[in-house]
Amino acid sequence: MANRISTRVQSLSPSATLAMSQKSAELKAQGVDVINLSVGEPDFNTPGFIKEAAKHAIDDNYTFYTPVAGYLSLRKAIADKLRNENGVDFDPSQIVVSNGAKQSLCNVILSVINPGDEVIIPTPAWVSYVEMVKLAEGTNVLVPATIEQDFKITPAQLEAAITPRTRMVLLCSPSNPTGSVYSRDELQALVDVLARYPEIIVLSDEIYEHINFTGSFTSLASFPELADRVVVINGVSKAYAMTGWRIGFAAAPADIAKACNKLQSQYSSNPSSIAQKAAEAAYTGPQECVEEMRVAFQRRRDLVVSLAREIPGLKVNVPQGAFYLFPEVSAYFGKSYGNRTISNAGDLAMYLLEEAHVATVDGEAFCVPGYIRLSYATADDTIREAMRRIGEALGRLK
Ligand code: PMP
Ligand code: GLU
Repeated sequence: MANRISTRVQSLSPSATLAMSQKSAELKAQGVDVINLSVGEPDFNTPGFIKEAAKHAIDDNYTFYTPVAGYLSLRKAIADKLRNENGVDFDPSQIVVSNGAKQSLCNVILSVINPGDEVIIPTPAWVSYVEMVKLAEGTNVLVPATIEQDFKITPAQLEAAITPRTRMVLLCSPSNPTGSVYSRDELQALVDVLARYPEIIVLSDEIYEHINFTGSFTSLASFPELADRVVVINGVSKAYAMTGWRIGFAAAPADIAKACNKLQSQYSSNPSSIAQKAAEAAYTGPQECVEEMRVAFQRRRDLVVSLAREIPGLKVNVPQGAFYLFPEVSAYFGKSYGNRTISNAGDLAMYLLEEAHVATVDGEAFCVPGYIRLSYATADDTIREAMRRIGEALGRLK
């Protein structure tokens, strides 16, 4: 049969994180004892007061269409959060709530990128950025940051990547997949470059804001040099263990917010009314749960880093946020076990899945060769067992 699928969709890669997670679920269903370190989501249950708010929302009949950009009460709660936690001012009319930060990112990219516009993306970068830019027919300009520079780009690298066609720079700190966090000074140095290019829009993915072990977080929207051209992306998935509820937001200059609203009005309307009420409770309720989960992630970070360091051949940085470890694994390339030879990180991820029954993600999905990603958002004992299995399987490669 002729291929009926559009070239636009044919050119996209499926999400490798979700694909690996699916594969591990299938093996589990066949009875294989797989440890899934592939998908990145908190293992905690959504806090009770948030679940209660959702139950009340149903009983109180919050079951009709809402404004496309979300209930005003939720957008006010988000504006308050941005003011109180990040020191930045957005009017509720500048906030568009969507089905997860993923849709928020895609809304913004589709709203501002014309075919051929260049988008600068430091790599390693989360799997969906480059695909969203492809969807908008923009051009990805990847700027690699190595493990030696703690996966953070330098101002000189940023400046060298800028051309007259640059329309947007996309930054993610704390980072998925590396866990790196730019300090305020490091951000200031990048902002100093961007100050010379006032036409460039800055898209700042701050979804891991609260899973941060440095003790400080700076929103890119707080730099006056970027006034009126920075878009903040955030949401409840990671901070409040609410991945399945699908609520994220963009806080944007008025014209961009309006464009996102128009786009969303045509292809998804408002995100779930019930999930919105739950998110409102998350932002306005007690915040202790956020810190409790952060502390647990930090303990697990310490555990996974110390166990990874005991495995010869894994080269690791010390992630300062999020819940991922991104070891460099090229020491294993060219080695074999049985009739299987490891040529790249994809082979290694598959070897670990089949031989150690641990699901990880090939670093290629994050636009860099030679790495794998492990999500340590899981119980301490599971981390210990996973790292034991990984160490054993890697030890068999000769
Ligand atoms: N940005 C980054 C860097 C992420 O890791 C994720 C998690 N998938 C998202 C955005 C999207 O989060 P969600 O759609 O669950 O809000
Ligand atoms: N952020 C998570 C990850 O990177 C969720 C999966 C996804 O949306 O890609 O694994």
